[in-house]
Amino acid sequence: QHEATWKQLNAHIDEWVASSKTHTSEGHVASYIPELANAPADILGICIMDSEGNTCLAGDSDFRFTLQSISKVFTLILALMDNGEDVVFSKVGMEPTGDDFNSMLKLELVEPGIPFNPLINAGAIAISSLIAGDSTDTQVERILSFFREIADNPSLTINQNVFKSESDTAHRNRSLAYFLKDNGVLDREVDDVLRVYFSHCSIEVNCTDLARMALVLAHNGVDPIRNQRLIPRRFVQIAKTFMFTCGMYNASGEFAMNVGLPAKSGVSGSILTMVPGHYGIGLVGPALNRKGNSTAGVHLLGILSQEFDWSLF
Ligand code: GLU
Repeated sequence: QHEATWKQLNAHIDEWVASSKTHTSEGHVASYIPELANAPADILGICIMDSEGNTCLAGDSDFRFTLQSISKVFTLILALMDNGEDVVFSKVGMEPTGDDFNSMLKLELVEPGIPFNPLINAGAIAISSLIAGDSTDTQVERILSFFREIADNPSLTINQNVFKSESDTAHRNRSLAYFLKDNGVLDREVDDVLRVYFSHCSIEVNCTDLARMALVLAHNGVDPIRNQRLIPRRFVQIAKTFMFTCGMYNASGEFAMNVGLPAKSGVSGSILTMVPGHYGIGLVGPALNRKGNSTAGVHLLGILSQEFDWSLF
């Protein structure tokens, strides 16, 4: 089964990427973080990795980009590993919102002042505050080394230009954080929490790094290549459930319908997804649709899911 799929994938991926790439013209590169606006609008790259680490690469798969919201999946996991479920879910809820990722509308609805889930900005900011460490430097260092371990890439670093660009312009995230602080959700100083949050959003990767990270989730926390457990199974289950219900912003339902896989997208036009038990997938196509997901990327995943019957249902 795997061999047949792999063969067909390699035979057709260039053609599927080419036809999906035409959809880049329907989208726009994010510009609310000024540095992100420099990304080329017309590219699309993908890496699919199997359990042995073989890669199927196509399109502009060398392009480097920042994780942005994809990082929230892994800071959630680290926060769970540091604090356990009870503490984490006293600070964030478990429900999708149907609102924009940076929404302030529903902050107070789950329980007074607790963000709906850890993948919207308010929730991810709350999660940043839970990463263990007695200084922000230690917190950021711990996040970086965790991400390096999952990606099996010791050279991952923070893109300082993106970090600074976001930090200088993040008025909305700042207001979300102050609101959380006022509601007693953050035990640390607002500026410190935001530094941690902007830092993990600014970690730079390529499609292969994304696919490698996804592969660990696809195998429930065990890195199948090094044959090593990196994350407790339960925490991967939690992360994948959130990816399924809230990972594609307020298009998560539509994506579940058309692709049917756990996924997380970021405003850099990146998407991390996986075929559970089999493949890790990372892609980037910076032009975003109205809901904030890569236009070409969503199209390409639709084709792949259909061709290989990848939907979980
Ligand atoms: N750093 C970005 C922000 O907070 C992440 C948003 C995203 O990728 O959805 O605005």
